[in-house]
Amino acid sequence: MKEFELIKEYFSFSQSHSDTVIEGVGDDCAVLAVPDNRQLVTSVDTLVDGVHFFSDIDPADIAYKSLAVNVSDLAAMGAKPLGFTLAISLPKADTKWLEIFSRGLKQASEAFDIPLIGGDTTQGPLTITVNVLGTVKTDKALLRKAAQQDDDIWVTGYLGDAAAALKLHDKAQTQALSESEGYLWERLLRPTPPIRFAKKLAKLAHAAIDISDGLSADLGHILEQSHCSAKIKVSSLPLSEQLIDCVGLEMARDYALNGGDDYELCFTAKSSMRNKILNLAEDFKVNVHRIGTIETGDKGNLQLVLDGKPYQPKRQGWQHFSN
Ligand code: ADP
Ligand code: MG
Repeated sequence: MKEFELIKEYFSFSQSHSDTVIEGVGDDCAVLAVPDNRQLVTSVDTLVDGVHFFSDIDPADIAYKSLAVNVSDLAAMGAKPLGFTLAISLPKADTKWLEIFSRGLKQASEAFDIPLIGGDTTQGPLTITVNVLGTVKTDKALLRKAAQQDDDIWVTGYLGDAAAALKLHDKAQTQALSESEGYLWERLLRPTPPIRFAKKLAKLAHAAIDISDGLSADLGHILEQSHCSAKIKVSSLPLSEQLIDCVGLEMARDYALNGGDDYELCFTAKSSMRNKILNLAEDFKVNVHRIGTIETGDKGNLQLVLDGKPYQPKRQGWQHFSN
């Protein structure tokens, strides 16, 4: 199969014309319209076979996650998706693989309402680079440096599920997972960044970040860049019943604090915004939980509290779960 045919067959599924995408896949560059009162935001992430995903994962899931983790960055800015490009390096033009990959990518593209507008296709070890583009109202992006004293700290969704699922890889390949394990595994394969909610959140919140390296690490970036500290009530961490079922309450808290791969949002907002945030979350069917407060002093310090006492996670400073 020639490169041109391959692109036409597997990577031309988005409608090439709309109000914002003037030209999509097919020309030398995509042409996009950016309204006068908006700014362009962009981010890129590369996923390498064997490093960022297991080699034996279904190509549809690999494709889905490649886009989802990038959309998560747009959500963290409160952006509206504009389009994405895909640079893919493939060992060979395996049409079966490409068909399944393309199907997963299209699913994600539709789920997050972001069209594929261009890319590059080369031969080499399997590597997937997705570049997302979005827009925000001028100067309304949700920045890491914008948290303010006495802000509430919120998170979306449930934390720790995906990190706990990493341990299930071997089991998932060889035997049936329990219902709870199946839920965790799905959370690892198919992240659900709350992109539509995030777009509206830009009006209500101060700072935001997406949780990819674990809540402690990622909230830490907000604290450093906003020059403040925070107190988190460990009992308020949102934990799925499936996670607690699989690993118990204490480990579930550890996964939520230090796991990673959640692709949920952590954001801060004035306490006067509580009702508006809860209403917005209801409108978009997103779970939100208020877990703590931004404080001054001890810059960058994250204080964990349980039953009024300092809380020590079982294991600290672990970046990624290996096995
Ligand atoms: P050029 O040589 O001008 O860079 P290419 O042959 O690489 O053009 O690509 C032709 C068209 O197909 C371009 O519009 C490019 O954006 C698009 N394209 C190439 N690879 C992909 C891909 N993997 N996904 C989406 N679009 C792609
Ligand atoms: Mg090219």
